[in-house]
Amino acid sequence: MSGLTDKTIAELRDGFRSGEFTAVEIAEGFNEAVAASDRLNAYVEKTPELALEAARAADAAKASGDLKPLSGIPIGMKDLFATEGVLTSAGSKMLANFKPPYESTVSGNLKAAGAGMLGKLNMDEFAMGSSNETCAHGNVISPWRREGSNAALTPGGSSGGSAAAVAAGIAPGATGTDTGGSIRQPAAFTGICGIKPTYGRCSRWGIVSFASSLDQAGPMAKTVRDCAIMLGAMAGFDPKDSTSIDAPIPDWEAGLSSDLKGKRVGVPKEYRIDGVPGEIQKLWDQGLEWLRDAGAEPVEISLPHTKYALPTYYIIAPAEASSNLARYDGVRYGLREMVEGGGLHDMYKATRADGFGAEVKRRIMIGTYVLSAGFYDAYFTKAQKVRALIKEDFRKAFETCDLILTPTAPSAAFGLGEKMSDPLAMYLNDVFAVPASLAGLPAMSVPGGLDDAGLPLGLHLIGKEMDEQTVLNAGLAIEERAPKIDMPEKWW
Ligand code: GLN
Repeated sequence: MSGLTDKTIAELRDGFRSGEFTAVEIAEGFNEAVAASDRLNAYVEKTPELALEAARAADAAKASGDLKPLSGIPIGMKDLFATEGVLTSAGSKMLANFKPPYESTVSGNLKAAGAGMLGKLNMDEFAMGSSNETCAHGNVISPWRREGSNAALTPGGSSGGSAAAVAAGIAPGATGTDTGGSIRQPAAFTGICGIKPTYGRCSRWGIVSFASSLDQAGPMAKTVRDCAIMLGAMAGFDPKDSTSIDAPIPDWEAGLSSDLKGKRVGVPKEYRIDGVPGEIQKLWDQGLEWLRDAGAEPVEISLPHTKYALPTYYIIAPAEASSNLARYDGVRYGLREMVEGGGLHDMYKATRADGFGAEVKRRIMIGTYVLSAGFYDAYFTKAQKVRALIKEDFRKAFETCDLILTPTAPSAAFGLGEKMSDPLAMYLNDVFAVPASLAGLPAMSVPGGLDDAGLPLGLHLIGKEMDEQTVLNAGLAIEERAPKIDMPEKWW
């Protein structure tokens, strides 16, 4: 059935419920689109039969009046979520053949809410990257292109497969994870929405770990409403994750309202960073106008430790990663490289040398260095202290405002290969995203418009702890006012 793959999750849900089309028709439509999308390299594993199985169950549930919130909706799953019996490679050769015997809490929650799974989505190796170029399966290509150019662009990272899939209409929504911007930056690069909830809202159980004190799952979809719907199904207390928050999950969709009367929007003066293109500055000002038009009152705020956020992140995240990735030793699971005549240490070395890619190795080296006896206090302890100061900046700022508006990323999508030789330029991509990650705050990217080359730019909203609703509502206010972005025409 044509046209189904252009629809939002809310439209699919409502059309399915009113009998306009069946769940099987939806699943077949997306399965077909997925099968014809190999040039994008967004899916590393396709599971059309799982999408169909959930669709048949949804059609039966409709007949018996037993519908669940996501009945009839197939989604794409970032390959970082353990999915029972289905490849979970985390974008790494290390886990190239790993089929977990268990299901992550978040993917299990989505299943329990009736969603089907179209397949597993490509990503940077162990979620380390901003362009999807560190992936063992080859990079994702964005469905977007600059006007008048066929040059291949990045969809952003690390949830680049998720972002590309939603923008290309090969998933109506997808899961992402965000450690330092990996939901928000790819959402901005591909003209879609993505929200990282408060740290602890979504269980990390069964998500392959990168940096445990930062990792957080969230939805990526075409609209703010779709994000609210998906997040409602993904979030929830989980005793299996000791950092999971035991608090009720609000009905975010029912709470959506773009009336921002009485809300104060903070604009951090330290986010006016040199070298950010004029177009992004303009969009930021425009975003503020839209929020003002929705009833909000702009206020200038100060987040004085902003300039330390990126170096702090690039100490803490690699430190935690080096510890988390110690488990890939060739003994318990994943790749094992035996060395002829060699001993245990030879196997460790050969396995890790072969199984990890260059960026992952760089992070492990940085991480072990900053945790080493001689440098622990100078780097790791110092970074923890700065992290506390960054958190305190936000706490103070939220005494005078209810949410914060910034750009999502310092540029539009860049070309594949453009930044791979310069890790610092690549890390700079996260400059606006990382402070909210360090503070554990909910933050969202919504499309704001197109740049001069016709590429999407995102606006970034940061909220108070546990206040996803205000973030979503401000996102809705922007979505209602921003020029509507047409997704790219199919060329793949
Ligand atoms: N780009 C950042 C990094 O490489 C963020 C990654 C993420 O959020 N998973 O660490």
